Amino acid sequence: MNEISLPGHARVVVIGGGVVGCSAAYHLTKLGWSDVLLLERGQLTCGTTWHAAGLVGQLRATLNLTRLAQYTTDLYAALETETGLATGFVQRGSLGLATHDERFEELKRGASMARTFGLEVETVGRDEIRRMWPLVETRDIVGGVFLPKDGQTNPTDTTQALARGARMGGATILEGVKVTQVLTKDCRAVGVATERGDVAAEFVVDCGGMWGREIGAAAGVNIPLHACEHFYVVTEPIPDLPNTLPVLRIPDECAYYKEDAGRLLLGAFEPNAKPWGMEGIPEDFSFDELPADFDHFAPVLEAATKRVPILENTGIRTFFNGPESFTPDVRYLLGEAPELANFFVACGFNSIGIQSAGGAGKVLSEWIVEGRPPMDLWDVDIRRMMPFQGNRRYLRERVSESLGLLYDMHWPYRQYVTARGVRKSILHDRLAERGACFGEVAGWERANWFAPAGVEPQYRYSYKRQNWFAYARAEHMAVREGVGLFDQSSFAKFLVQGRDAEAVLQRICANDVGVEPGRVVYTQWLNERGCIEADLTVTRLAEDRYQIVTGAASATRDFHWLTRHIPPDSHCIATDVTSAMAVLAVMGPDSRSLLSQVTDADLSNGAFTFGAAREIEIGYAKALAQRISYVGELGWELYVPTEFAPGVFDAIVVAGEAFGLGLCGMHALDSCRIEKAYRHWGHDVTDEDTPVEAGLAFACAFDKDIPFIGRDALLLRREGGPPARRLVQLLLRDPEPLLYGNEPVWRDGAMVGRTTSGNYGHCLGGAVGLGYLRHEGGVTADWLESEAFEIEIAGERFPARASLRPLYDPKAERIKA
Ligand SMILES: Cc1cc2nc3c(=O)[nH]c(=O)nc-3n(C[C@H](O)[C@H](O)[C@H](O)COP(=O)(O)OP(=O)(O)OC[C@H]3O[C@@H](n4cnc5c(N)ncnc54)[C@H](O)[C@@H]3O)c2cc1C
Repeated sequence: MNEISLPGHARVVVIGGGVVGCSAAYHLTKLGWSDVLLLERGQLTCGTTWHAAGLVGQLRATLNLTRLAQYTTDLYAALETETGLATGFVQRGSLGLATHDERFEELKRGASMARTFGLEVETVGRDEIRRMWPLVETRDIVGGVFLPKDGQTNPTDTTQALARGARMGGATILEGVKVTQVLTKDCRAVGVATERGDVAAEFVVDCGGMWGREIGAAAGVNIPLHACEHFYVVTEPIPDLPNTLPVLRIPDECAYYKEDAGRLLLGAFEPNAKPWGMEGIPEDFSFDELPADFDHFAPVLEAATKRVPILENTGIRTFFNGPESFTPDVRYLLGEAPELANFFVACGFNSIGIQSAGGAGKVLSEWIVEGRPPMDLWDVDIRRMMPFQGNRRYLRERVSESLGLLYDMHWPYRQYVTARGVRKSILHDRLAERGACFGEVAGWERANWFAPAGVEPQYRYSYKRQNWFAYARAEHMAVREGVGLFDQSSFAKFLVQGRDAEAVLQRICANDVGVEPGRVVYTQWLNERGCIEADLTVTRLAEDRYQIVTGAASATRDFHWLTRHIPPDSHCIATDVTSAMAVLAVMGPDSRSLLSQVTDADLSNGAFTFGAAREIEIGYAKALAQRISYVGELGWELYVPTEFAPGVFDAIVVAGEAFGLGLCGMHALDSCRIEKAYRHWGHDVTDEDTPVEAGLAFACAFDKDIPFIGRDALLLRREGGPPARRLVQLLLRDPEPLLYGNEPVWRDGAMVGRTTSGNYGHCLGGAVGLGYLRHEGGVTADWLESEAFEIEIAGERFPARASLRPLYDPKAERIKA
């Protein structure tokens, strides 16, 4: 024990010597940071890594995660040559099979997405499948996809190779040193305490796997993850089993198969997983297994013996049950913790940590070294998590669903069934009584659509039109032709107050917020590169008081960005007031007439202009009314103190009867906004995109007295004519197919971009997408005039129109009516 010599200082301390910690250390040294200290409580790999099945697949749900998995594959393929340590990595490919049409569509949609950046992937039929995997029963197989570059590896050897690579780059790796505490000062991580003394550090990285939550919690950092039991079996040797078999995935049967030294390894992603470690992860858990549970595994095994009949006569040699950490949304947790500067997290790998570790370690290291994420990592960014998601009961219930979701259908609009009803608008019960079907975002239950009387408010999922399509269309048309009412209480709201509020916000906001009180400003927040960190509205309530409104999902991230950019010596305080106010949006050409029934305020165009905000009396209450719109119609958002909102809602609904008021949900909100080409942060605009490319330069006040963050970078981007990459709106000419985002866009036989979001344009008469297209000569209106655009959906191409201006109400006459 005394042989270990612990340095008193390191530039970076990495906690945890699993595959993720070793990858982080490896990549930090690759960037030239050699003063890296990795501390492992036991031995390298002793947590979860040692017992992984070792599948290294590349196809993920989103583009950037697929890119990272692809990088992992390339890294593992080269690691042995680089470090001299065998990793066991082989690229035999992987075969994913579908037993029904919808799954096949899902696989093909994934394949189309992967092609947008050149990932090798082929669609295969039954004959091809039998040739590649002769032992599999294919009678009921509809089709499959084959990824020739997918691999499999030995997780322990791969981790050791990463560790050696890190050491070769100068890192120190010490085993048998447990970190007992993260040391903090002034809301910043400054080192770690261990059983052998303290180590001062500039950065601390939590790669503690299923221990990661507790490591964070002790430092006040929320890391929502929970362990679950995870199973596979390994058979007795199977004579003549080819050692060239690709990995086989049959997601419809929750199963994957891997040839493993003459045996078959059969792993499961079953629904209703078993959470584990409710009382905390045992201190001494090291190279340990959990008790077998044959009954739990039996349904998967039963289906497997039908799918691979040779299993009927093959014994099981090993039944393995090991714990792995899962997160509430089945995506890992990466990045700098919003609660603690210089404390980075890479935890919660949801049973794909081996295949994710290469990419995750790379981008995490770049994030640390460069001080910002190198690409859009919102899917896995820890700032997407809400404080309540650290609640143990919530986590325990949710992760029992998370595990199975890996292989379950990834339906569009799919909703979780566990841990629901966490966060409800004050209007929730009123909406439920009126047929709302709720979906969840950031814990909020939000009405997504309303079922008419006699119809059950339940989703019937499909890649085609889902059961609510006609109801959402009716809501959409109510907004376009009459008037609709949305409950948008889930919006995050921040109050920014103080003598310096204007100066602080002028620096953070790209637009000019030095307006008169009573005006709403649409703006982006940019980073130093001129890319979009947030997309929101800022209302000036008084000389020294602003209200900021942003999306529910980005509440933690945006609040963090705001507070980090308030200089400590300024007189400016930000408060999250989300719970204080409900938001009712009354939208549509009849909104003025309807609201005039419940308020005496003058809502005429002259008195209440577009972009104005003022307190009005409504019903028995007072509300802040803002004349803006995310649906592209005349309308008002009403910010009502929470306890007054039910009364205001009732008054509007009663008055609305004469106007055929439609209650509207989030699906109609989204279909209306995409028809009007309003961007959605996280999809259409991210921290990879600038306002110039996103068509939002009109909202940048380049000449204001206090230059905004990112201004200089943006000015450079503006030089040189139309951008070669530009966000456009796309409309399918065929009214039938649907767009969900991530579809490749073709022009004259060449791929020129991809969609970033999609929905149906009920007025435009077809599916609408927003997406970035690339053309070296500039994405101009002339270039877009071509009739030759096509969008690829599940391998098939459909003609589309492309436009820089919104195809619905291009002159914005309706919102200003
Ligand atoms: C049955 C099973 C099969 C799997 N199959 C696959 C697969 O085929 N493909 C795939 O990609 N993934 C697979 N996985 C998932 C994969 O194993 C994990 O995602 C991955 O190993 C997680 O790595 P990690 O480094 O985050 O965690 P770990 O390997 O658990 O590493 C965390 C380390 O931190 C150490 N530690 C904790 N607390 C402290 C402390 N206070 N101080 C110092 N050290 C500390 C622990 O001892 C541990 O070694 C599988 C998992 C299971 C359970």
